[in-house]
Amino acid sequence: MQDCLFCQIVAGKIQAKKVYEDDHSIGFLDINPRNPGHTLVIPKKHFETILDMPEKEAGKLFESVQKVAAMVKTGTNSQGISIGQSNGQAAGQVVRHVHVHVIPRFANEGPVGLEGILPSKKIDDLSMDKIAASIKSASAHAHHAHKEEEPKSEKKSKKSEDISFEF
Ligand code: 5GP
Ligand code: ZN
Repeated sequence: MQDCLFCQIVAGKIQAKKVYEDDHSIGFLDINPRNPGHTLVIPKKHFETILDMPEKEAGKLFESVQKVAAMVKTGTNSQGISIGQSNGQAAGQVVRHVHVHVIPRFANEGPVGLEGILPSKKIDDLSMDKIAASIKSASAHAHHAHKEEEPKSEKKSKKSEDISFEF
């Protein structure tokens, strides 16, 4: 995609500090790192979110992520690695080319885990059962699921109302 920042990094039209490359993915340092060595792993092909990727492509991306995670951990001498991936504006995705953050983590810092993203919520057992049933019955076919998200059919919006929560 011509107007996509990360496609331009793949094409070499915008400079990046590349640390990894294979047939389908590249890894490069984040320009605004959360820690030294914070690396982004992206597919060479343009997809906006993980839900837009064919299953095989998503699998390949995560094979690259695992390799980069090992390289970043060794290369930064960190004690841990956080892997983060945001899909859609609500999740905080800014660059609309799917990317996986690989962030080295050091023992003396915090907040350590998911608490740094969202606080945990108390959800009653009945609501937990409802949301589990709703997720279980949803299509696991990612491409399909994403497509259904845009034009709202009556059936679909009714279903999401059934499982909405007050936070
Ligand atoms: P998001 O918030 O979409 O999950 O993450 C986008 C990431 O891309 C941010 O962490 C941001 O610092 C990084 N980023 C944005 N523009 C550039 C750029 O031009 N080069 C590099 N290397 N990283 C970038
Ligand atoms: Zn792109």
